[in-house]
Amino acid sequence: MNRDSWTETDPPTVGVVGGGAVGVTAAADLAARGADVTLFDRGELASGSSGRAAGVLYDAYAEDVDAALAARAMDRFRTFDRTLPGFSFTACPYVIAVREGDPDADAVPEMVERMREHGREVSVVDPDALGERFPLRTDDLAVAAVAEGAGWCDPASYVGAIGDRARREGVRIETGTPVAFDGPVASRLRVGGSVRSFDAVVLAAGAHTGRLLASGGVRVPIKPYRVQALTSRPPYDGPMTYDATAGAYFRPHPTGLLAGDGTEPVEADPDEYDRTADDWFREDVSAVLAERADYVPEVERSWAGLCTATPDGDPLVGPVGAPSAGVFVAAGWQGHGFMRAPAMGEHVAEGVVASLSAGSDVRAGSRSARSPWVDAFDPNRFDGDEEFEIREGMSVESRGEHGSRKH
Ligand SMILES: Cc1cc2nc3c(=O)[nH]c(=O)nc-3n(C[C@H](O)[C@H](O)[C@H](O)COP(=O)(O)OP(=O)(O)OC[C@H]3O[C@@H](n4cnc5c(N)ncnc54)[C@H](O)[C@@H]3O)c2cc1C
Repeated sequence: MNRDSWTETDPPTVGVVGGGAVGVTAAADLAARGADVTLFDRGELASGSSGRAAGVLYDAYAEDVDAALAARAMDRFRTFDRTLPGFSFTACPYVIAVREGDPDADAVPEMVERMREHGREVSVVDPDALGERFPLRTDDLAVAAVAEGAGWCDPASYVGAIGDRARREGVRIETGTPVAFDGPVASRLRVGGSVRSFDAVVLAAGAHTGRLLASGGVRVPIKPYRVQALTSRPPYDGPMTYDATAGAYFRPHPTGLLAGDGTEPVEADPDEYDRTADDWFREDVSAVLAERADYVPEVERSWAGLCTATPDGDPLVGPVGAPSAGVFVAAGWQGHGFMRAPAMGEHVAEGVVASLSAGSDVRAGSRSARSPWVDAFDPNRFDGDEEFEIREGMSVESRGEHGSRKH
């Protein structure tokens, strides 16, 4: 299908698999661009990782593409706060704190410099000055940074509100509907007892992405892993804080405070993983809260969910499978999928529209000058059988290690 031939009575059909933050955003943005969209989720909207996310949002990225996408995502969160019924965004600075003796401390000034080069409002702050500005304990810190353009929201509300917007744009949402490829990866989906064909399929199936593609004969290196969070009752009105040395973060929350991390760096089974939080996580995070914020938690709720890792920490976004398959994947967010969803969903929508418009050369992922896709996220950059270790995505090491990549 060529865009020139699109008419209101004959729009391209797109099937979106996955009703998390990425899938609903892509579906709404595709429909807003004239596509005839059906979104499938095996459960309810936000029943995957998006409904379990902490809602920490920031634009503090050191790479050019990441920083641009994060800036766009934050802009959209702010706009949706004003325009989208049922969604609200709360601005709140984000502190990265590194303790004395942590070798990552040396990397922070350069990392912050790169964030600033990309226009992000992030500064290195002397620990004493940090302690004067915020109710945090800072006497054991080697270095800290503050990202001013950050904030938080309730992730399930985002998915619900964008889902409503998608419906208003004409998207048909079929929940309780697991789908599979009907043979090799192609834009034909098995839905219940029937097969439905689309001009394009967007696979935003979160932790199930690897399995779904493998069932259609395409192997990509993507591993789900468990992370954990809790909410606590006593009020907290300080900044969002990531204690990078302890590997834990916390933020204000309507019930009092939300804290998280508890990364278990082993591959998890997306159908069988333990959804309850571990005792060690509650104990470790309680110790960090006491040390960093003089806060004694009364746990209201705690849980575990899945993030997805790739060998290089970058996501898989773009065309996948055979050149003419018409299948586009968006997954592998390394703990940052929710905060980037408004931009990644839009990027996917624009990429799919451009690919359908341009015909096979872009759809094939041929990386021509006309390709709308980001090279660093090309799903075909791996063989698919790579051995790799899961690394926590928020760490200074993970964020600071790439070179200054360009689109
Ligand atoms: C405890 C925790 C805290 C987190 N905190 C943050 C944070 O603060 N900020 C941040 O940016 N990220 C955070 N994350 C990561 C974030 O949750 C994910 O990166 C993001 O939600 C991924 O969104 P998604 O739409 O790609 O996937 P998901 O939300 O997992 O959506 C995928 C959907 O696909 C559906 N699906 C799967 N297979 C099929 C099938 N065969 N047929 C139909 N439907 C199918 C699933 O039911 C699911 O609803 C956190 C994660 C956890 C677990």
